[in-house]
Amino acid sequence: MTDDINELPFGSPLVPELLDQDTKISFKCYPGISCFNACCKQSSIQLTPYDIIRLKTNLGMTSTEFLKEYTVPDTMDGHGMPSVKLKTMDESPACKLMVEGEGCSVYEDRPTACRYYPVGLMNMKKKDEKEDEQHHFVVREGHCKGHDEKNEITIAEYRKQQGVVEYDDINRDWYRIILKKRSGGPSIGSLSDMSLQMFFMASYDVDRFRRFVLSEGFANNYNVDADTIKSFENDDVALVQFGFKLMLQVFYGDKSIDEKDGAYNKRMEERKEILEFRKEAELKEWKGKNDAYEIEQEKVEEEKK
Ligand code: SF4
Ligand code: SF4
Repeated sequence: MTDDINELPFGSPLVPELLDQDTKISFKCYPGISCFNACCKQSSIQLTPYDIIRLKTNLGMTSTEFLKEYTVPDTMDGHGMPSVKLKTMDESPACKLMVEGEGCSVYEDRPTACRYYPVGLMNMKKKDEKEDEQHHFVVREGHCKGHDEKNEITIAEYRKQQGVVEYDDINRDWYRIILKKRSGGPSIGSLSDMSLQMFFMASYDVDRFRRFVLSEGFANNYNVDADTIKSFENDDVALVQFGFKLMLQVFYGDKSIDEKDGAYNKRMEERKEILEFRKEAELKEWKGKNDAYEIEQEKVEEEKK
């Protein structure tokens, strides 16, 4: 029996040895270590929604500006689920947020993957279990000398020391969305382009998502009380977590947000129109190609005579 998994860093082809919270590892990283910043000099850091909130706040930017300035688009698995990675320097694979000789310029707000390293995070859901589980594994890379340090620490202590528990708690429903997408299955199917666009906005571009949630169109479809809506004006974390619930509802039918009467049917009608329009367009395109093919065939037949 296989498990459904997603992991950070994403996309590892191997299922590594999984560690529990009380498993001890021997590791220590500190400013004077010989490999200081070696990891940041060859970085490939995929960001979670809470990472982006912390980083854009640290840098005094909107999420839209941050995405443009500091990230590149990526996918987190073989199914085209959008993700974003931190940009590297123009001339090297070093992280754009690293300052040579000094270290991380956003250390207090560094992303989940940086906090965890060299520990990896793996979210899993066993086929017969309702709830997903978090497991961990150790990544061993030659440049990282922290493994040689005699310092025993449990995974739970390490997560606490690195301040990553808060990150995992805030992102938990987001990991559930990815797990559901990865596990697929006939009842879920693949997400449409429109859903993937919504996933990108609600996951990574919280300031744009805010405009969507505060819009009249949103108010016409959902019954969310005025105080909650008001809190979204300033509270990025509440907003992004609301976005996770909205995605679980829209993509997978996990209903937790009250919809206005008829909103679902209205949306379906709108989608039906879009789908029919698309089908018609595809048919036209196909017909166009087919007509061209037939004309080509007729020409060939003519030349043969
Ligand atoms: S964000 Fe900071 S810790 Fe993470 S790779 Fe960049 S410089 Fe290193
Ligand atoms: S010990 Fe590992 S994590 Fe720490 S600076 Fe060196 S390479 Fe990076």
